[in-house]
Amino acid sequence: MEKDRKLIIAGNWKCNKTVAESLALVADLKRDLGSIKELDVVVCPAFTALDAVSKALSDSVIRLGSQNMGDNGYGAFTGEICAGMLRDLTVRYVILGHSERRQFQQEPDALVARKALAAHNASLLPIVCVGETLAEREAGITHDVVGRQIRGSLAGLTPDQVEATVIAYEPVWAIGTGKTATSAQAQEIHAFIRGVLAQEHGDAVARRVRIQYGGSVKPSNARELMGQPDVDGALVGGASLEAKSFVEIIRNSI
Ligand code: PEP
Repeated sequence: MEKDRKLIIAGNWKCNKTVAESLALVADLKRDLGSIKELDVVVCPAFTALDAVSKALSDSVIRLGSQNMGDNGYGAFTGEICAGMLRDLTVRYVILGHSERRQFQQEPDALVARKALAAHNASLLPIVCVGETLAEREAGITHDVVGRQIRGSLAGLTPDQVEATVIAYEPVWAIGTGKTATSAQAQEIHAFIRGVLAQEHGDAVARRVRIQYGGSVKPSNARELMGQPDVDGALVGGASLEAKSFVEIIRNSI
């Protein structure tokens, strides 16, 4: 389906793969995707593989993403990785506020917003994740939760920064569970998110923001999800760990 916004499909490898395994996957993706131009493809390996994967992607259109970063700059922040370090490795995108970090590291919206600002200030493009839990959906408060996350996680960004931010709508109940939101459920929340963006940052900005869907995206459901008017790509976990399924998702999205 033709859209004004270029689709962006990103693979979130999470805490998986050694450096050698990461390089093997990248080699397969480069072979299978060639110089694909129809959409943006991003891979997000673990921190430990970023340097090697960066070098392997130097002659590729596939972009490099990180799965997280600190909100701090360089300095006395033991154990943290800052935006400048990622830029140094030619990282282009950074996933922020993934539900696993919101759940296991108790990352609040305000921290996600500070990270998003630090990312933009270092010319990294954040992929800001939002999404409701099953209990929240069943309680009928999905719009409240997602609206609050969008407002809170983008607080303090300029309109240009919001426009360049990618949003990933990832219903928590669909992540790694094999349960995918129906295309109608995804479209409904994507349109809602675009409405919140329009209220907060104006129509022109809202129209340009790319909103990915994430949650058990597979080759078999990618085409229908990507066919929705407000779905502008996918954030893919499990199915991005193998070249075959990730490439099929990409091919089925064009
Ligand atoms: C994710 O972790 O962002 C994700 C969407 O995972 P999965 O595709 O495995 O549900």
